[in-house]
Amino acid sequence: MLDVLGDRVPMRARDGAESYGDATLVLRAPRPSDRDLVTVYLGEDDDGRHYVAVLHDESGERAEQLVDLPAQGVLLDLRAAGGILDDAGAGLATTAIAMAHWHRTHRHCPRCGARTEVVQAGWVRRCPVDGAESYPLTHPAVIMAVTDPDDRLLLARGAQWAAGRMSVLAGFVEPGESLESAVAREVREEVGVRVRDVRYVANQPWPFPASLMLAFAARADDPRLVLDPGEIAEARWFSRADFAAAIDQGELAAPSGVSVARHLIEGWFGGPVESRTW
Ligand SMILES: [Zn+2]
Repeated sequence: MLDVLGDRVPMRARDGAESYGDATLVLRAPRPSDRDLVTVYLGEDDDGRHYVAVLHDESGERAEQLVDLPAQGVLLDLRAAGGILDDAGAGLATTAIAMAHWHRTHRHCPRCGARTEVVQAGWVRRCPVDGAESYPLTHPAVIMAVTDPDDRLLLARGAQWAAGRMSVLAGFVEPGESLESAVAREVREEVGVRVRDVRYVANQPWPFPASLMLAFAARADDPRLVLDPGEIAEARWFSRADFAAAIDQGELAAPSGVSVARHLIEGWFGGPVESRTW
């Protein structure tokens, strides 16, 4: 069983380790009291072990008391845990935290407002009055590395972001839109640039709170920028030399190492970026 407290999961440093840089999830045996909570079946591994998330409402200071945190135990959210866990652990934590958010925000029937029941091992909520079923949602979002004819990369700073924090553009896919259209629209809206040759690169679950990030590369013929001041505080084209200098001098912080944004930037840069991160 994996306890989920709000948007955090319990983790512990490996035996003998002095930091959480090599930490693992705290998993435990089932308890009778788990029946009183929402549980979500997460799956089975190659050794036949089954994994179940146990969702606790409490996310505040009392959270530590709801689970028996071992010595060297700590509750971490996914931004902190994602960079530490191995692939299997990160997969469990990502699904468990995403499902916890869905259950927390979908307790009532969208048709009649009645309190819904949890069925299908935690993957469906059903209305006891009219039988309506609700399923977990994932919202597609696009994120894109746009380059100009000189192969400079476009980075922008969101209107609410601190100075020095820049990344590639991103936005939600709208109803009725293809992914390529969403890439072109977002770039046009945010920085006034037309793109072509929109090409799929990679994807990443991004449960903050319920997205799937679909990463693309795109080309711009005309690099002139016209910013949407409501969305974008600053944007510029970086050559690799400009980018390396800005990182070295601490003027620019790259997105977190676990993010697909970082993957896109390093793909363009041609190697790892050593940087303080957000
Ligand atoms: Zn209903």
